[in-house]
Amino acid sequence: MIEVDKLLLQDTHVHSTFSDGAGTLAENVAEAERIGLQSLTCVDHVRRDTAWLPSYAAAVGEMRGATAVELQCAVEAKLLDTSGALDLPADLTGVDLIYAADHQVPMPGGPRSPTEIRTSIESGELDPLVVMCSLVTSTAMALRRRQQVVIAHLFSVLPKLGMSEDDVPAQLIQALAAATAAHGAWIEVNELCCCPAARTLRPFAACGVPILVGTDSHQAQTIGRYDYCEAVLHELAAVPLAPV
Ligand SMILES: [Zn+2]
Ligand SMILES: [Zn+2]
Repeated sequence: MIEVDKLLLQDTHVHSTFSDGAGTLAENVAEAERIGLQSLTCVDHVRRDTAWLPSYAAAVGEMRGATAVELQCAVEAKLLDTSGALDLPADLTGVDLIYAADHQVPMPGGPRSPTEIRTSIESGELDPLVVMCSLVTSTAMALRRRQQVVIAHLFSVLPKLGMSEDDVPAQLIQALAAATAAHGAWIEVNELCCCPAARTLRPFAACGVPILVGTDSHQAQTIGRYDYCEAVLHELAAVPLAPV
């Protein structure tokens, strides 16, 4: 069952000055307190060579002692290829969650830029279905890790390729939802990217995958403010889930 009001009291995707956010951890937490959120997930962008992870994890740890808001420490990393590799540092000590994100197009040979892939699709050189299969395979393979994985803004790259998540075959989404459930991973609805849609989320919900809501805020003022996510959750809650 989707408990809309309860879910909207969390913000599971907020960036800080550790990566490209404008708010410090303290400012983000203060805003979460001010608007009455129950939980906040600090998420910052990392790459393989990110060196600030220990100080970031320590800073989130320190904030935990100073607030009633439940805090999680997460990193967001791009999907690299269809093996499920992520652009992540090797040592993830202190990190609670890994957000696997489609910032580029993960192809068998490595990440490709959306512009490049769009050109190849438009010239007929690349079949859009191959691209969708690569993205879904990459995401499914990225779930095979020790740490808790969250699928970040699933299919957010598709509009940049001239496609929509409505174009993704239902069987592909169903397979990803089953893999997500099997690996105990989670999926988020992302306010900034306005995705995934209810059609994409429904098989995940039916498989029992926890659905999170996050604003993907890059400044404190937007934390916990939902329009898209709220509408999608209501859409999901309105229709009984079909048994899998
Ligand atoms: Zn992202
Ligand atoms: Zn983000």
